[in-house]
Amino acid sequence: MEGQVPEIIRKGREGCTGLKQIAFVSGKGGTGKTTLVSSLANLVQNKMLADCDVDAPNLRIIINGKVRKQEDYFGAKEAFIDPTVCLKCGLCKETCRFGAISEDIEIIPFKCEGCGACTLVCPVEAICLKEVKTGRTCVTETPMGTFSHAMLDVGAEGSGKLVTEVRKNIDGFKNNEEWVLIDGASGIGCAVIASITGVDAVVAVSEPTRSGLHDLERVLDLAEHFQIPLFVCINKYDLNREITALMERFCKNNGCPVIGKIPFDPSIIRALQEFKTPVEAGSKEVTEEIKSIWRRLTVEVMSLGKS
Ligand code: SF4
Ligand code: SF4
Repeated sequence: MEGQVPEIIRKGREGCTGLKQIAFVSGKGGTGKTTLVSSLANLVQNKMLADCDVDAPNLRIIINGKVRKQEDYFGAKEAFIDPTVCLKCGLCKETCRFGAISEDIEIIPFKCEGCGACTLVCPVEAICLKEVKTGRTCVTETPMGTFSHAMLDVGAEGSGKLVTEVRKNIDGFKNNEEWVLIDGASGIGCAVIASITGVDAVVAVSEPTRSGLHDLERVLDLAEHFQIPLFVCINKYDLNREITALMERFCKNNGCPVIGKIPFDPSIIRALQEFKTPVEAGSKEVTEEIKSIWRRLTVEVMSLGKS
């Protein structure tokens, strides 16, 4: 019921009126999440794409297009000391609890958290905070639709904020599309939270392993916390049918439908080596299963909208 939906979810939904958003996530990397999203990118009409895995944006390796917007992203702040004003009194160094100011009263960049405490104690206003580049965002026009993505700089923090920027960028390029397919971040950290906030449904892509089952439990906790319907796709299900059965039982007991089981197919590995999706590589069985996943997902998501 809308009255019980948390504020953060409502805000996310307000930002994308008219678009149904589906985020594909996994408890860890390498489960086939991006492979599934790239295949759906081939099959689904009338959609936009967002790669929210800003630490390892692999979808952009498979999907190319013409750049429409590209910008540096300034997602952090760092202290800057003006040596021509500084009295070397050392008050800032004593105040900084992150040890980010050296004996010579110089900022140690990778230690500075940008908290601004030093600026408050400086008697001569020799310190200020400056914005620091932490990544780069990009929107491209591709044969598969408008595609928003970004890359976090090496060693930079704040992937959650950059993910939010990727999703905001989508909004500026809407053109009567119906869907946004989001390749979400892996894990359950802030980048994943930013990937799923306000979406209509989350699809957890899992592999049939003990750790995959544990990861699924963590994703379910997250989806439940944010009150977002969760669906599950088991990739390479035939490599361990016993754990697949355990996963199916877990999903049934927790009310998260298994919307598809993709078989292991060596042609998928060959396709990825050639930067192609399984659909482009002509894997018939896998293609049919992915089509069926999308049919099921659309029915489920559209019925959610009516409830
Ligand atoms: S901004 Fe905060 S972390 Fe950075 S130097 Fe100043 S007190 Fe230290
Ligand atoms: S508090 Fe200001 S004046 Fe004192 S050492 Fe730091 S920057 Fe220099």
